[in-house]
Amino acid sequence: MIRDIPTVDDEKNRLFLQQPCAPADIMSAEFDMLVVDLMDTAEHNRYRCAGLSANQIGHAVTVFAMRYGDRFIVIANPVIASASKLTTSSTEGCLSIPNSPPQTVERYKWVRLQYWCPHTERFVTNKFARMDAIIVQHEMDHGKGILI
Ligand SMILES: [Zn+2]
Repeated sequence: MIRDIPTVDDEKNRLFLQQPCAPADIMSAEFDMLVVDLMDTAEHNRYRCAGLSANQIGHAVTVFAMRYGDRFIVIANPVIASASKLTTSSTEGCLSIPNSPPQTVERYKWVRLQYWCPHTERFVTNKFARMDAIIVQHEMDHGKGILI
């Protein structure tokens, strides 16, 4: 189901987004519904959305959708196993902060990520580079309650 994406303009929502998220229970029915909602909501916003964290649609768990090629994928309970020594400056916006200018942050150039893949129902390790790596880091910050 397509969900609303509340913004930090609402104080209650800002506090919710700044709260660190817990790992998702990947075997629960709620998790299956969250995956569908994240995919539907990201796809609905595809022209302005590169990634969407579960807490942006009201679930305080470490799950996010991200654009990957010409589609969206969902990543659950990610852990960065290793990362590039070099970083890059990234200028980013956020759907939850629509009324402020883009912010420049330092990001790893690549990350090797361990996570649960709900599409294949497996724990996987994948390397994400360039734009993909930046989206992963932006969305993982959401999971820690960090807004750019
Ligand atoms: Zn964001």
